Amino acid sequence: MIDTVLIVGAGPTGLSTAAGVSSAGRKVVLVEKEKVLGGAPILSRYAKLVPSGEWAKDAIGRMVKRVESDARVTIHRGAKVARLTGDAGDFTATLSDGAEVRAGAVILATGFTHFDSINKPEWGFGTFEDVVTTTQVEQMVAAGKIACPSDGRTPARVCILLCVGSRDRQIGREWCSKICCTVSANLAMEIKELAPKTDVYIYYMDIRTFGLYEDKYYWRSQEEFRIKYVKARIAEVTRGPDGRLLVKGEDTLVKRPIVIPFDLVVHAIGMDPNLDNPEIAKVFGVGLEKHGFIDRAEHYTSSFASTRRGIYVGGAALAPEDIDSCISHGLAMAMRAVGDLHAPAQAAA
Ligand SMILES: Cc1cc2nc3c(=O)[nH]c(=O)nc-3n(C[C@H](O)[C@H](O)[C@H](O)COP(=O)(O)OP(=O)(O)OC[C@H]3O[C@@H](n4cnc5c(N)ncnc54)[C@H](O)[C@@H]3O)c2cc1C
Ligand code: SF4
Repeated sequence: MIDTVLIVGAGPTGLSTAAGVSSAGRKVVLVEKEKVLGGAPILSRYAKLVPSGEWAKDAIGRMVKRVESDARVTIHRGAKVARLTGDAGDFTATLSDGAEVRAGAVILATGFTHFDSINKPEWGFGTFEDVVTTTQVEQMVAAGKIACPSDGRTPARVCILLCVGSRDRQIGREWCSKICCTVSANLAMEIKELAPKTDVYIYYMDIRTFGLYEDKYYWRSQEEFRIKYVKARIAEVTRGPDGRLLVKGEDTLVKRPIVIPFDLVVHAIGMDPNLDNPEIAKVFGVGLEKHGFIDRAEHYTSSFASTRRGIYVGGAALAPEDIDSCISHGLAMAMRAVGDLHAPAQAAA
């Protein structure tokens, strides 16, 4: 029996899977293309996480340490899987660093790519320095200072534009990125904590602070922090004669055109399929769904199975997900993979 599970990707999903497989007494080989483990929250230096309020570097850092200090886990940093042969129960992977790994099951925890706001040029990113993304504001919060990149001043007025690169048929993004309404409400409150005199506006199509996040983020941001929500359809971001940014569009509640000046405009960027997915599909022989995320075989009796027997997929590799869900996916995939080590013939069950 081969007692090793190969896990590709060391974000929240892969780290959770690795801890799960190890706790069942099996070995893990974890392959991460970056030199640093932790996935998007660490690589993009997120600030305080929704919903725990813990700093990403501490919360995800704890997940990283648990796996790094685990004798059952072997880590290949800065590496990818170049080739995979074999079948469920006995795969052989050749890594880009030259190593060869035999594994009974394979986990794809390869996550997502942040939407590149350059693909929404009419909203000013790449043209105006003071149009930034939520990940940039996360980094400002983590550094303890909200500032306009153009001159370092504290912005008097900030707006956050929701659904940038999500729910947008014109640019082929027909999905909701699930977490950005809540993350934006949280960021708006963090901006107010660091710069209490700054006015913060959120422009939205719909607010989707899912599950239990409605009062903690949507209502609290308005009632305690005076964040102003405007239901609008934004047409463009330009620069006014005084150099400030002008957000132009239509207030869709009163059905009137709006042109409002801001010092800092923030794009709440969505979660795109991992740019590596076409390569991953080829190397691992798995299918992609129509948007480009990795496809799954069947939801109810073969949880987290990809379209290839013995290979599982979860977390943001499947669809936009929050970290709590990714951790659950990881544990569920660990159970499937460990089950396969015992009885590979059941891998397709
Ligand atoms: C701006 C923003 C803020 C967010 N804030 C929160 C929050 O506060 N709370 C919350 O719950 N969620 C938040 N999220 C969502 C969160 O980022 C995701 O839920 C989480 O990162 C997904 O984890 P993952 O491990 O599936 O994927 P990722 O975090 O994307 O990790 C995937 C890992 O796989 C690696 N990888 C990719 N391709 C390969 C390959 N071919 N070979 C080897 N390795 C590979 C990557 O380098 C990466 O380390 C936020 C998202 C955004 C966009
Ligand atoms: S979570 Fe909110 S901001 Fe993100 S895509 Fe969905 S509706 Fe838009």
